[in-house]
Amino acid sequence: MNVTEATKYLENKGIKTTYQRAVIFSYLNNKKNHPTADMMLNDLGKKVPTLSRATIYNTMEFFREKGVVQVLNMDDGLRHYDADLSTHLHFHCNKCDTIYDMYTQLDTDKIDELKDFEVHNQFININGICKNCKKKEK
Ligand SMILES: [Zn+2]
Ligand SMILES: [Zn+2]
Repeated sequence: MNVTEATKYLENKGIKTTYQRAVIFSYLNNKKNHPTADMMLNDLGKKVPTLSRATIYNTMEFFREKGVVQVLNMDDGLRHYDADLSTHLHFHCNKCDTIYDMYTQLDTDKIDELKDFEVHNQFININGICKNCKKKEK
């Protein structure tokens, strides 16, 4: 999704878009790397010199309110952003800090404690060591 496409996408959702907002949204969609505000500032700062960490925070909060991004509170204590709104779980590698998307779902029908509950969504964070880092350990 380039900046023009991002602008169109956001405007279709009735979201007022500025160049900065479109750049940020396009980045989030293309990278799929669940960045923190600092990571985004690092990667986008050269392209958009007027960008600040506060702008990114505010933009992401705005996007979250509009329902086009989700915020992940991972075990590293940082807020990570994700433009993929489908239900999926996340694996955070404690070694390389990569956050992986996993599309397996818990079968909530089989969880006894949830028997009389109505499940709407699952947000599951797993942490550990990813397969690439495990390979390097050997
Ligand atoms: Zn890893
Ligand atoms: Zn994700």
